[in-house]
Amino acid sequence: MTDLSERIGERFEKMSRDEIAEFQSEALQTSVAQAAKSPWFAAKFKEMGLEPGDIKSRDDVVKLPFTTKNDLRLSYPAQMLAVDPTEVIRMHTSSGTTGKPTAIFHTRQDVSNWAELMARSLYIAGARPNDVFQNMSGYGLFTGGLGLHYGAERLGMWVIPAGPGNTARQITLIRDFHVTVVHATPSYAMHVAERMIAEGDDPKSLGIKIAALGAEPYTEEMRFKLQDLYGFKAMNSYGLSEMNGPGVAFECPYQNGMHLWEDSYIVEIINPQTLRPVPEGEIGELVLTTLRRAAMPIMRYRTRDLTRLITEKCPCGRQHVRIARFVGRSDDMLIIRGVNVFPSQIEEVLMRHKWLGGNYIIILTKAAALDQMTIKVEISRDGFDGTVETLRKLRGDLQRQLKEQIGFTANVEVVEPGSLPASEGKAKRVIDERTAG
Ligand code: AMP
Ligand code: ZN
Repeated sequence: MTDLSERIGERFEKMSRDEIAEFQSEALQTSVAQAAKSPWFAAKFKEMGLEPGDIKSRDDVVKLPFTTKNDLRLSYPAQMLAVDPTEVIRMHTSSGTTGKPTAIFHTRQDVSNWAELMARSLYIAGARPNDVFQNMSGYGLFTGGLGLHYGAERLGMWVIPAGPGNTARQITLIRDFHVTVVHATPSYAMHVAERMIAEGDDPKSLGIKIAALGAEPYTEEMRFKLQDLYGFKAMNSYGLSEMNGPGVAFECPYQNGMHLWEDSYIVEIINPQTLRPVPEGEIGELVLTTLRRAAMPIMRYRTRDLTRLITEKCPCGRQHVRIARFVGRSDDMLIIRGVNVFPSQIEEVLMRHKWLGGNYIIILTKAAALDQMTIKVEISRDGFDGTVETLRKLRGDLQRQLKEQIGFTANVEVVEPGSLPASEGKAKRVIDERTAG
């Protein structure tokens, strides 16, 4: 038992608010001093006239410079490296598909700390050493593969590094090895369920108990739909490669926000326009500072992810602050006819309908200078009676509910199951053709 508690870092998991504050103040000083060893932050601090010694407590974090994705690009390949290159044992990049990748480096201790954060996250979600774990994330530069893998091994589960895709093999492995815990993107989990249903199979028959679902935004309605289909508990999992990857924040069984590991990150929520903190509990951009990373400390990283803090006590007893399900990213916000729309608002409406499947896309076009939005959504094979009458009613209902939600009328096309592109990793939901021609 002591062995397990070591592996999951129980002493950090169980910290009180006072212990967290004290630990953060110490760790921030160390992290700033470490950052100053990198050419990037040395220059940045100098430019601002900031000495690492000016940072004396956790609250001094506001004196530090923000770091953006663009800074990471500018510092490419290794301006933010804060250790001798011989100490690096691993690098990853973020999954962005445009422009230069951003590279993140880790020492042996960094990889070990990350594995512990991940093990701790899986543990609070309910996973135990006697579980069998299947990781359906891509292994490679993307952090969802090795990140979850190391964490699951650290916890002591039987780990199946299935990787993404090859749905038939995924299902076989889950069945043959009695997999109880899986990790996937929500869109891929939905795809697997729909494939099974199409083949007359039942996802519940797999016997999966817990699914760690993350790497992309999804709604509470999508969670319910997946839980219904599989009979598992779907636990929200958050991370980003700049902050290691998965294992930054994770849900406990109360499924009421994700505990963010404050022994490893200082959390701020800011207004992305003014860059000032939002009033407690309000939605803003999540900003994170690494506390325990040696190879590449990052100060006040602007994640672009929009959420709010939940500071009420969690019934599970853990005191690390919780963050609410993300409403979107500041750079994912669509402006349609001057109205701000997040894809999550659309998903929320779609997922409420039992006749609809989990796959959809949003297409934006222009007609006579006016933005048009078309939503294509797959019908579900489950429960749909196949009549034109039902289809017509469904389209009408969706159009009305979407109008209530986003304020204008969208075209809705209900399409055959399996006719939209399936996703194995992060789903691409929005196709914006407005600027194309
Ligand atoms: P990457 O660094 O390529 O792994 O991408 C990280 C990004 O994925 C985050 O900044 C979020 O925008 C998104 N992401 C990861 N997990 C979640 C989650 N549980 N909910 C919403 N978005 C997520
Ligand atoms: Zn909790």
